[in-house]
Amino acid sequence: MIIEPRTRGFICLTSHPVGCEQNVKDQIAYVQSKGKIEGAKKVLVIGSSTGFGLASRITSAFGSDAATIGVFFDKPATEGRPASPGFYNTAAFEKEAQAAGLYAKSINGDAFSNEIKEQVVNLIKEDLGQIDLVIYSLASPVRTHPESGKRFKSVLKPIGEVFSNKTVDFHTGNVSEISINPAEGEDVVNTVTVMGGEDWKMWMDALQAENLLSEGATTVAYSYIGPEVTKPVYRNGTIGAAKDDLEATAFKITEDLKTIGAKAYVSVNKALVTQASSAIPVIPLYISLLFKVMKEKGIHEGCIEQIQRLYSERLFGGGLALDEKGRIRVDDWEMREDVQAEISKLWEEATTENLSEIGDLEGYSEEFFKLFGFKVNGVDYDADVNELVEIPSIQ
Ligand code: NAD
Repeated sequence: MIIEPRTRGFICLTSHPVGCEQNVKDQIAYVQSKGKIEGAKKVLVIGSSTGFGLASRITSAFGSDAATIGVFFDKPATEGRPASPGFYNTAAFEKEAQAAGLYAKSINGDAFSNEIKEQVVNLIKEDLGQIDLVIYSLASPVRTHPESGKRFKSVLKPIGEVFSNKTVDFHTGNVSEISINPAEGEDVVNTVTVMGGEDWKMWMDALQAENLLSEGATTVAYSYIGPEVTKPVYRNGTIGAAKDDLEATAFKITEDLKTIGAKAYVSVNKALVTQASSAIPVIPLYISLLFKVMKEKGIHEGCIEQIQRLYSERLFGGGLALDEKGRIRVDDWEMREDVQAEISKLWEEATTENLSEIGDLEGYSEEFFKLFGFKVNGVDYDADVNELVEIPSIQ
């Protein structure tokens, strides 16, 4: 079929298998161009099909020749209906890993459930024995709790008071004022239940209970801080409460795993266009200004550049460079004073009329479509493609 982008709000309903494959190949080529990393050899990535998780899986496999198990929640294609991009990404990743002689198996299902944890535990027992590195990179709006069966929904709201600021509809370039009502009722608790650290801890407990973590194993989860302008809706909002919980969980995991000398870290990453971040009001405007400033300064990074740097310089490069709260920081370039000062100035100036000039709206939009395999260089979008791609290890 010929597949075109069909968007609804911050979601694209279609995705392109060849474009997704090309994205994965480009990320692999980037990692290979940076040379080998003396990193972990047996890696589990939870949330491995898109964004930072996919970049982590690619960096482990093609930077360190690691065997990888990936867990994600994606839709396969049906006749005439493309799969979700994470499905195509994973199919492409496995194909490339196999061609390179690397072990790669994937499990598609709800990572929050006991059932998927059990499947992963059994797979590790059968195939890898023990894991050296666990990357926890889930971004989900909902979680069904494995014990109570209750379904929790996360929300992106400020806490305490209404937050009003500028935002942009990145499809139209329309800059407008948005007001977001504060969290109410169980909003904060629910968001912490979905995006906090409880599930990360459950994964680590499940692995440790079966002796599947190697001596001195490492686990890393991803977080975000961001600038003043997004603070009320991000870091001081409901999602920030969840990130506080995630960050506190790192210490609990390290404590509980001290008998095997394992360490849990949170890495604070840069703001990037991913499916998750496109959903947060105000953030797209911030990102379009951030991209402009960072590109002009020659310090722009995407997911793969961020994770390659995280691995090669921080995790396996001898320089974790933890901040005062014990976190790894690869948002250091985003948070540089000169970068933030320029963004603050541009923020005041930004209007519908000037945003395409003072911000990188085009870059934002391009990145958004690339998430779904569209607007990727070298792909012929007029060509008939087979939407029914399969993931080799899942057939
Ligand atoms: P993403 O949406 O690109 O990826 C999320 C992954 O989680 C996908 O592989 C998806 O399949 C998987 N997933 C979601 N629900 C699942 C479930 N129930 N079971 C199994 N898999 C499931 O997200 P991302 O932007 O790469 O975010 C990953 C992490 O990085 C998050 O913790 C996020 O807060 C953090 N982070 C994001 C940014 C950013 O700007 N995007 C910045 C810093 C940190």
